[in-house]
Amino acid sequence: MELPSDFAERGRIPLIADVTSILREKTGEEVPLIAGMEGPASLASRLLGTYNFLTWMIRRPETLSQCLKVTGTTCSAYAEILSEAGADAVCIVDGIAGPDMLDPRHLNALIRPEYESFCRSGKGIKLIHVCGNSTSILKTLSGCGFQGISIEEKVTDLQAAKKLVGSKTKLIGNLSSSGIMLNGTCEEIKMEAQKCLEDGIDILAPGCGIAPKTPIKNIRALVEARDEYYLTGKIRVRTHHNCASP
Ligand SMILES: [Zn+2]
Repeated sequence: MELPSDFAERGRIPLIADVTSILREKTGEEVPLIAGMEGPASLASRLLGTYNFLTWMIRRPETLSQCLKVTGTTCSAYAEILSEAGADAVCIVDGIAGPDMLDPRHLNALIRPEYESFCRSGKGIKLIHVCGNSTSILKTLSGCGFQGISIEEKVTDLQAAKKLVGSKTKLIGNLSSSGIMLNGTCEEIKMEAQKCLEDGIDILAPGCGIAPKTPIKNIRALVEARDEYYLTGKIRVRTHHNCASP
């Protein structure tokens, strides 16, 4: 397997690069533009099939390692294209590398080297999102050089998580996307946001991808919670009155 030399011209890549430039122009300087992409492990598992990916991890680690080198290089090349197009940060999502799917020892042996080269490649901020309870791999991920790690609500001890990642890596998250963000009231979102920030979250965000039917007012409540926390040190929670905006 190898990375095609005309990679940047293939498939939807030119289109996504154009979209990134348009969004860069529209968002202006104030809002950071974060582009998402699959990570080396997820990409390898899609190319090989999940069953092969997981069994080769144990039975054919050399073959898998060769494959991960190609997918790692692909991720770096794609991240470079997105950065050139105007993305401030690139966030890889590598669900299959999380401890729910993979023994952290395998992450350390086979995937960590690819994360390290990814973080060193090109310009721009490198972030990672791992689904599930990622506590046991947080230290490894921050050691790879990611500037931010996006965590789900399944990481329950935020103070411990903060200690694991250290001061260089920012913790991003972790309000439940399928729970409170989708079904909660604005008050509940604000209370949860306050708890996240007080416990050590550096960048307030939903814990995973935003569910399609999430009410816009819930997303606004999250932004309001952040503004109130950083401007006044306290989030205003109205008990009888619902959200400020529809
Ligand atoms: Zn997730």
